[in-house]
Amino acid sequence: MNKEIDLSVSCYGAVKDLHYDVAILPWGSTEPHNFHLPYSTDCIIPQIIAVKAATIALKEFGVRCMVMPPIPLGSQNPGQHNLSFCIHTRYETQYAILVDIVVSLHNQGMRKLIILNGHGGNNFKNMIRDLAFNYPDFLIVESDWFSILSGKNYFEAIIDDHAGELETSVMMYLRPDLVDLNMAGNGESQPFAIAALNEKIGWTPRRWDHATKDTGVGNPKKANANKGEKYITDLLPKIARLFAEVGKGELY
Ligand SMILES: [Zn+2]
Repeated sequence: MNKEIDLSVSCYGAVKDLHYDVAILPWGSTEPHNFHLPYSTDCIIPQIIAVKAATIALKEFGVRCMVMPPIPLGSQNPGQHNLSFCIHTRYETQYAILVDIVVSLHNQGMRKLIILNGHGGNNFKNMIRDLAFNYPDFLIVESDWFSILSGKNYFEAIIDDHAGELETSVMMYLRPDLVDLNMAGNGESQPFAIAALNEKIGWTPRRWDHATKDTGVGNPKKANANKGEKYITDLLPKIARLFAEVGKGELY
């Protein structure tokens, strides 16, 4: 079954005679996540979620998705992008990658793509508007997996933004082999000195080296796999429904 829906493990022989309703593109980053989570966290989580949701979409709704290999190139804040091996990817680079994926899929007859974003610094809205201008018959939907379901009912941390209790718990559930909580810093963070920015009256990227000492924002120490499992179990039906409804339906 995975060969039918997960392109990372698939082969042409497994897909060539199947009809696909929608392509799913997990899009992450390559960046430090506190001291304890992998650089690839923002790729790993949406990819596993996408494969699980695509499995449900096929079984329960008869909608066939192909989950593309995750894109590991994200937009990074100052103070984060100068840390070892963190890769800042410019808007133009991300857009060029997305255009090439859309043109390839479009040429093959595909007309629907869902970007499942795993990195808070990524924003595809204007790219999607530009592509709707150039390819009006190609539908692109963006979804941030971490924004769909509030963590409030699942996690104790009040501030839980980057590599904190939520993301760590989800990783401990999905890929426990990649998490060593003993390495984690406490994710303590520093607000702006400009109150209006903290009140979100205005926005500028946080200077990550001033905002946090361990690159985390949010304390991961109370994370565990059970919390991650509860959260993902409630999240999956929502994402599966998005895949199925987009895959099956017309926009209007
Ligand atoms: Zn992350």
